[in-house]
Amino acid sequence: MDMGIAGRTALVCAASKGLGRGCAEALAAEGVNLVIVARTKETLDATAAEIRAKYGVDVKALACDITTPEGHAAALAACPAPDILVNNAGGPPPGDFRDFTRDDWIKALDANMLTPIELIKLTIDGMIDRGFGRIVNITSSSVKAPIDVLGLSNGARSGLTGFVAGVARRIAATGVTINNLLPGTFDTDRIADTLAAQAKAQNISLEEARARRAKALPAGRFGTPDEFGRACAFLCSVHAGYITGQNWLIDGGAYPGTY
Ligand code: NAD
Repeated sequence: MDMGIAGRTALVCAASKGLGRGCAEALAAEGVNLVIVARTKETLDATAAEIRAKYGVDVKALACDITTPEGHAAALAACPAPDILVNNAGGPPPGDFRDFTRDDWIKALDANMLTPIELIKLTIDGMIDRGFGRIVNITSSSVKAPIDVLGLSNGARSGLTGFVAGVARRIAATGVTINNLLPGTFDTDRIADTLAAQAKAQNISLEEARARRAKALPAGRFGTPDEFGRACAFLCSVHAGYITGQNWLIDGGAYPGTY
């Protein structure tokens, strides 16, 4: 299916690896030119070069911390008029809620709530003026079903979800959509780190920890960044103009509810 977005420009945050990279690649596969953001220049430059070579689109790499005001300004300077904005950043650390300090909360809110809101604020009026825009926020299945050790994620991402629910409807007649993609368990570095910690705590091998985790999922396996990216590309396509304000779970059936 032709997604109808070839030649568009996307700003994809936190895109050197994992789900952000999956989104960047799937958009590039549709002919979308990219500005990709991540903190580590070498990894980011390598990703940019690979995407450029594979898909033949323009890829600009911006190394910065997207969760800071300097990062927001740099992203806008590098990509002043995106047609597509994919909001993403690293997730907050796990822990007991009693141990979370005010500073921990501010960091989580900056990364997973206030940065996407700021980037939406900085780009949405241009999209409205041009009559087309797609905003996709990478959040988490924890928004639908809280994960007890991820209190910072449950809280900060729910704040973003509430904000998006209001704005998406307010601008629904402008040609600009805003949706959230809620990943379950995907095979990325973040999950590899969690599995390594689990393996150590349970005194089992990494392979065993991985096999147990996969077996507990209805799909019997982790999702791939490519699958995640393809869903993002569809939401950014011309065919998804009537889908807005939605929270789309991509979790291999892990969420147990009927609705
Ligand atoms: P990942 O560790 O594989 O990749 C993270 C990417 O974000 C990297 O490119 C990294 O450089 C970049 N990044 C992190 N912090 C940044 C910052 N402050 N500024 C700029 N770039 C930054 O992670 P992932 O698994 O792809 O996860 C992406 C998001 O999705 C995270 O918020 C994570 O919590 C969330 N999530 C992931 C899963 C999963 O199964 N992988 C599940 C639920 C939620």
